Amino acid sequence: MESEPIDEQQPDWDLTEWESALTINVGVAYGCKKCGAMAMVSKGGVGVMELACCGRPMEPMSARHGGAAQ
Ligand SMILES: [Zn+2]
Repeated sequence: MESEPIDEQQPDWDLTEWESALTINVGVAYGCKKCGAMAMVSKGGVGVMELACCGRPMEPMSARHGGAAQ
């Protein structure tokens, strides 16, 4: 059998990674580290969300507290 070289391109991002990166999840909170303001996503969607406060981009906060979500 001939073994053909597999010329498979591997992009840095595959489709699922793009989808997860562009998915805005409900309940994700973004916080400003300077003034402490927080914004929470109350309705999800797909897109690029850029929140800014105090002239700086707000950072996503991991709101994992181990409790059961209701
Ligand atoms: Zn701020």
